Amino acid sequence: MVITKNDVLKIVDKIVEVIKENKEYLTELDAAIGDADHGINLDRGFDAVKQKLTTLPETTDIGTILRTIGMTLVSTVGGASGPLYGTAFMRAGQVVQGKNELSEEDIVKIFEAALDGIKQRGKAEAGDKTMIDSIEPAYKALKESLENNIALPEALNRAANAAKEGMEYTKNISARKGRASYLGERSIGHLDPGATSAYLMIKTFCDVVNL
Ligand code: ADP
Ligand code: MG
Ligand code: MG
Repeated sequence: MVITKNDVLKIVDKIVEVIKENKEYLTELDAAIGDADHGINLDRGFDAVKQKLTTLPETTDIGTILRTIGMTLVSTVGGASGPLYGTAFMRAGQVVQGKNELSEEDIVKIFEAALDGIKQRGKAEAGDKTMIDSIEPAYKALKESLENNIALPEALNRAANAAKEGMEYTKNISARKGRASYLGERSIGHLDPGATSAYLMIKTFCDVVNL
């Protein structure tokens, strides 16, 4: 066991905080290449998540918690990112259904399921300038590190660093999916808002687990 249910709830609480702190920043990033609502959308969604989690019984398992987060995001965030992040959390919940603690393998499975869900739903790939550009490198770094017997704290640091590099890379490429794709080459020079919010969530996850 590496992550308890209590840890999961702590991670979610911290994500709610971090999204709130970055609400304006994420919205400004979206103003440059989208419609200036990404931070507002996510903050509304995670406020609803926080509220919703208080209504779940004490005995709720981690899978159900994650699925509930996903369903809440789908119904409250809207835009492109709502269904995508919603699917990510719902898929992550499905692969750990019934569990009250997570192993290293479970953490890898969660990342994999979330990434696959986003790709299937949004039909984007790495390099399209989306949230995938942060999530896929993080997943790969985590999986590879653990396969090479690197301890979880260091594996998580590598995942967070990979997500950061992936996010930064979105500045250099033009968007092929989502609203920013309407700008084509003019989207170059700007960070992708979704890649940025995904990095923030991954970084928060890693930091809370490593506390
Ligand atoms: P909207 O563009 O509908 O206003 P948001 O502003 O909340 O929605 O989210 C925009 C983010 O969604 C983008 O920065 C990008 O990272 C992500 N995104 C958009 N389309 C896709 C897609 N098809 N696959 C993955 N991510 C996507
Ligand atoms: Mg937007
Ligand atoms: Mg919008």
